[in-house]
Amino acid sequence: NRKMRKNIVAGNWKMNKTLAEGLALAKELNEVLANEKPNCDVVIGTPFIHLASVAAAIDTNKIGVAAQNCADKESGAYTGEVSAAMVASTGAKYVILGHSERRAYYHETAEILKDKVVLALANGLTPIFCIGEVLEEREAGKQNEVVYSQLAGSLFDLSAEDFSKIVLAYEPVWAIGTGKTATAEQAQEIHAYIRSTIVQKYGKEVADNTSILYGGSCKASNAKELFANPDVDGGLIGGASLKADDFKGIIDAFN
Ligand code: PGA
Repeated sequence: NRKMRKNIVAGNWKMNKTLAEGLALAKELNEVLANEKPNCDVVIGTPFIHLASVAAAIDTNKIGVAAQNCADKESGAYTGEVSAAMVASTGAKYVILGHSERRAYYHETAEILKDKVVLALANGLTPIFCIGEVLEEREAGKQNEVVYSQLAGSLFDLSAEDFSKIVLAYEPVWAIGTGKTATAEQAQEIHAYIRSTIVQKYGKEVADNTSILYGGSCKASNAKELFANPDVDGGLIGGASLKADDFKGIIDAFN
């Protein structure tokens, strides 16, 4: 095979679905994949309250469960927060961290995200760490600078061993929920740049083993073209992860 690293299709439900609706969606996806052997790892990122029920209702060897966030503190008097240990105790194996919505609306800084990554790793969770520029930055040709500082600011203090447990998701903010996708060329170009920064920091072996997902209006109709790029190792899927058939269509892009 052309590469060692995993291909991954991960859903990000965001703040959608009641518990009953989320369970129904998870079970439907489980059903749809029951007799299939996907050519990628499949992950669904649910709201916190869904995690335990969803993990109990599906084949977690086939579909990994992800939280969409975790606290930057270990435990204690932090009303309303959910720790990495709590997430792990539900059966979830992943946590999406640094999503642009969390950075923009909940003021998550590089420093806060650094702490979240450390706690996620300490609790055996795989962080799906999101990076990506806003439209203004893209128009100014600053996208590489932006993703570099996001990587360096939150991840580049990790040991090579810890860094190799991270999954990256490049999500240009201008493509999220807008119907505007990065072209296959734009995605490949910046994914290759991201990988080159990992080569510089951690060496070729770590870089070759790091999965870098694309996110931003990815759907069944464009997934094949995006995933065909050598440095695009799957997708982080928002809107199109909310229906089992749509999501399955993206998983099938690896067939
Ligand atoms: P979208 O969201 O697929 O709806 O654009 C992707 C994401 O924000 O992870």
